[in-house]
Amino acid sequence: MSTNRTEINQLGEFGLINRIREQVTLTSENIIKGIGDDAAVFTPTTGKKMVMSTDTLTEGVHFDLTYTPLKHLGYKAVMVNLSDIYAMNAEARYITASISFSNRFPVEAIDELYEGILLACKMYKVDLVGGDTTSSLSGLTIGITAVGEVDENKVTYRNGAKEGDLLVVSGDVGSAYIGLQLLEREKSVFKANDKIQPDLEGFDYVLERILKPEARKDIVKLLADMEVTPTSMIDVSDGLASEAIHICQESKLGVDIYEDKLPIDPKTVLTAQDFNLPATTIALSGGEDYELLFTVKQSDYEKVKGNPHLTVIGHMKDKGAGMNLVTRDGKSTPLTAQGWDAFLNKED
Ligand code: ADP
Ligand code: MG
Repeated sequence: MSTNRTEINQLGEFGLINRIREQVTLTSENIIKGIGDDAAVFTPTTGKKMVMSTDTLTEGVHFDLTYTPLKHLGYKAVMVNLSDIYAMNAEARYITASISFSNRFPVEAIDELYEGILLACKMYKVDLVGGDTTSSLSGLTIGITAVGEVDENKVTYRNGAKEGDLLVVSGDVGSAYIGLQLLEREKSVFKANDKIQPDLEGFDYVLERILKPEARKDIVKLLADMEVTPTSMIDVSDGLASEAIHICQESKLGVDIYEDKLPIDPKTVLTAQDFNLPATTIALSGGEDYELLFTVKQSDYEKVKGNPHLTVIGHMKDKGAGMNLVTRDGKSTPLTAQGWDAFLNKED
């Protein structure tokens, strides 16, 4: 963070909004009005349906500023929301950002936050078209609303899975949770003795997964290029097990997930051992992976198999079969999100 400190009231709310507005360069020709009026105005793309989603990150609940750089936080707040748009198999187009903060935050802090928000916009070709700025008594809250567009016949809901469909996950799961454990451990070490500097060397991947996640826009494109339309889809924010259960419940089905198929980064497996946590539990219940979990027809197996970004981890079954994890030794145990949640003492 820069050493200068400019109090927000030196600038005022309108001064701050103008400062944000000056940093925004709109890219979509569909936008008629961005920041600066009572509402943004844009032309919908002909033939597309619009999707819209919102998510809020609250200090002390969703992030801890002792180890979260504000630029990363801004970036992540956008990712969390774009992830929901991609989970509808849609393209993200516009966002608004609502921020609420106390006078503990100087103008420079808000600048850093917006650096991250605007970097995310640039990387994902999304435009910031508005927002809201309010004061809070204590912490920082960031609410992002995202709007996307999708061909009507490609919208993918949680409830579209069919018996026999394959369950597929992108990337790998569990690393973000390990990254969080590392940060929390270093924080408590530092609290106990502030002369000990954080030792986080060699943990770049897991730390990036928690501090700077990437939403899987590339997977939506990959699926389109492979001409695979998933039958159902959800993004992995609360944990793979919990999201699989959502697909099952919405689609009125059961599932078998194979423990030996779960894609887990090798370093994450090792670090989980250091924390005495079973890697399978982390993979199923860690959360904040922002991967896409989806089902495809069995006839799409050839297209999906062997793709380095995708792993088939199970298949959908009749509702009566229940939702199960088939362990390495071939035993079937019920998949529960609740139990894991309690075990991990995780927040929403
Ligand atoms: P109103 O009083 O009508 O809500 P505001 O003063 O809140 O208007 O906002 C004025 C304009 O600035 C609007 O276009 C709004 O979308 C935009 N805006 C306000 N706060 C932010 C922010 N934090 N980020 C981006 N745009 C913002
Ligand atoms: Mg307002």
